[in-house]
Amino acid sequence: MTPNKEDYLKIIYKLGGFEKLVNNKKIAEALQIAPASVTEMLGKLKRENLIHYEAYKGSCLTQKGMNIAITMIRGHRLWEVFLIRHLGYSWSEAHEDAELLEHITPSRLTVRLDKFLNYPAYCPHGSAIPNPDGEIYQTPLYPLTMLPLNKTSYIRRVTEEKELLDYLQETGIAIGSLVQVTEIGAYEGPLTLNLEGKLIQISYKAACHIYVDETPQT
Ligand SMILES: [Zn+2]
Repeated sequence: MTPNKEDYLKIIYKLGGFEKLVNNKKIAEALQIAPASVTEMLGKLKRENLIHYEAYKGSCLTQKGMNIAITMIRGHRLWEVFLIRHLGYSWSEAHEDAELLEHITPSRLTVRLDKFLNYPAYCPHGSAIPNPDGEIYQTPLYPLTMLPLNKTSYIRRVTEEKELLDYLQETGIAIGSLVQVTEIGAYEGPLTLNLEGKLIQISYKAACHIYVDETPQT
């Protein structure tokens, strides 16, 4: 499926375009499309006053673009909570269907959904849900690969990407679990984890997408 305007705004936001310029190459990589298509779409977004765009430097969101991006993110994360909590979805299934639902959710439905779910602060993958005013409070976390050996921490967030989510869920990784890294294989080899008292191994690449902190999620 070709990404639409809203997908662009969301990706620019996620790449930091709420406070700095994001270059076209990064956007093309994240959306897995040709750079030429990106340039064309950015021109449209600029004409609609959704982004500021500087040739050869990149783009960042205007307030109007930011509001749309945050509305998408808020809808996406609330739907994920609903799908997992009430319909028994897996991590990756919820992410996939939330990608569709976020584009067609009217604001009154988002409000009711939020209330029905009792105002969750995080999505099931540990990302903070923006509040109705569009503010996001995500405490800074660091990747599992940076955790000193044998130091106990909590798993707080994972990157939302289909294959990664399936892989992580299969290994038993869950948000809120206590984890220690007991060993890292040479040359970015696999990590051995003590996950809630059980020893498991995960790839170094996956570990870069698991974020931890010494404090549990509140
Ligand atoms: Zn999520």
